[in-house]
Amino acid sequence: MVALVSEYVSLKPRGVDDFWGCCPFHEEKSPSFHIRPDRGLFKCFGCGKGGDVFRFVEEVEGIGFRDALERLASRTGIELKAADPRERARRQRRAELFRCSALAAEFFSEVLWSQTPDGERGRAALVDRGISEETAREFGMGVAPDSWDALTGYARQRKLPLEVMVELGLLRPGRRDPNRPYDFFRNRLMFPIRNEQGKVVAFGG
Ligand SMILES: [Zn+2]
Repeated sequence: MVALVSEYVSLKPRGVDDFWGCCPFHEEKSPSFHIRPDRGLFKCFGCGKGGDVFRFVEEVEGIGFRDALERLASRTGIELKAADPRERARRQRRAELFRCSALAAEFFSEVLWSQTPDGERGRAALVDRGISEETAREFGMGVAPDSWDALTGYARQRKLPLEVMVELGLLRPGRRDPNRPYDFFRNRLMFPIRNEQGKVVAFGG
């Protein structure tokens, strides 16, 4: 609670389980606002505002209880997760997945707008489906070239981890040698599927 409130108020300890600062809810020069972290309470003797940590977030952010709850939950989650090395590894893995899918989307899109037979075929397929260039560009669409190793070669050239590309479903492990994967999507339009943050998480083909 001290860390949270300190984001809004400069607190000074005064005695046991007691921190004082200038109230964030009204104008003042000398502190009449204090918190009791062990009890999870705040109180201002100037404007009379007081309550628990949820009330504090509601008041200071001007949001409702639900939003305050979510904000505190995600905040606590972030702090807990950051301390967990397995969670850190998972995050790095996720970041790697995002990076690879973003670069793959870029690759497919470059092919689609290129002056190559693959690009021409892709643009013809857009016309067939009644998709305008504007829409295709807006959604970052692309085309997978008619090749077994175009994306694999691109991944090698960009030093993308091939096992991550396999995990994304973009490459398939080789039948004879799993370390020599091949392109899964060939000669088809690619639709990047994005999450709420706008990051590419998968492809529809
Ligand atoms: Zn106050």
